[in-house]
Amino acid sequence: MAPTDTTLPDLALSRSSLDRVALERRRPEVLTELLDDPRTRVAEVRGDRMRVAAADDDVLHLVLRAPEPEDHTRLGLHLGRDGEGTAYVGVVTQWDDPEPGGDGPDPADDGWLTLRQAGEALATRDAGVFTTALALANWHGTHRFCPRCGAPTQPTQAGWVRRCEREGSEHYPRTDPAVIMSVVDPDGRLLLGRGAHWPEGRFSVLAGFVEPGESFEAAVAREVAEEVGVAVDGARYLGNQPWPFPSSVMIGFEATTRQTELTIDPVEMAEARWVSREEYRDLLRSGAIRTPSGISIAKRIIEHWLGQTVESVIEPGDSMRPGTARAL
Ligand SMILES: [Zn+2]
Repeated sequence: MAPTDTTLPDLALSRSSLDRVALERRRPEVLTELLDDPRTRVAEVRGDRMRVAAADDDVLHLVLRAPEPEDHTRLGLHLGRDGEGTAYVGVVTQWDDPEPGGDGPDPADDGWLTLRQAGEALATRDAGVFTTALALANWHGTHRFCPRCGAPTQPTQAGWVRRCEREGSEHYPRTDPAVIMSVVDPDGRLLLGRGAHWPEGRFSVLAGFVEPGESFEAAVAREVAEEVGVAVDGARYLGNQPWPFPSSVMIGFEATTRQTELTIDPVEMAEARWVSREEYRDLLRSGAIRTPSGISIAKRIIEHWLGQTVESVIEPGDSMRPGTARAL
């Protein structure tokens, strides 16, 4: 369900529309029943990719299929039901050939895209299906052993819990919160940073994981102080979206400061700088600065500060396209 009262609505990965039917997951036989029902829609997760196809309107849709017998032997994830009651099940499958990235054919040629590649263009329902399935698959992949006793764990509750084989303890999917924030000075300039291992020209707003025992607002203040040595006066919530790379949710803020002298932490940051809106537009047009990716909340936070989309700066004639209104 899309949030209606945030400053940044319709974030690319926050558009989940299925009913998660959490109570249904508790029935031990629910996945078996769904995979025996030809009406069930199955979405395969393979590595970090799912298969998509373009519709006439340039919107991408997941390639869904009916269940097949082998699905009963695969890791299954009950993702929820749509308004008509149709159930959606994710199944984790493997590449027949070596993992993509080697010398073999590019899986993207066959429609297998990553969420970073497909997320912005995906239809609303499918953006939610991909985001949820990827987050769950990532969690299963790294939680095969019990954190209490080290014994193997097995998936249960339709893919939403893992249970220890030895002592029965239950373990739930984890989501790691990270704050991401604009920092603006009294002249309206934005603080941009380049991470220690980022290429030249790639700048974004600051971000960092929330620590145990810490509120989101305190994490904003701590991260800014750690990374650039600046004390923020306050932070206002903007919006959030899941970020399953591999398991985060990004909580967006805009912060203000009266301090403009930067002391960067060289372990985290290669460089940091203040830019006015006019400077930022010039840097974009000249290609000196690259923006964060289209599905990121970072891009939307920068555009919120800028007052326009990045695309409308680079291609002014394109500023009336539908996406512009949505982004602001
Ligand atoms: Zn255990």
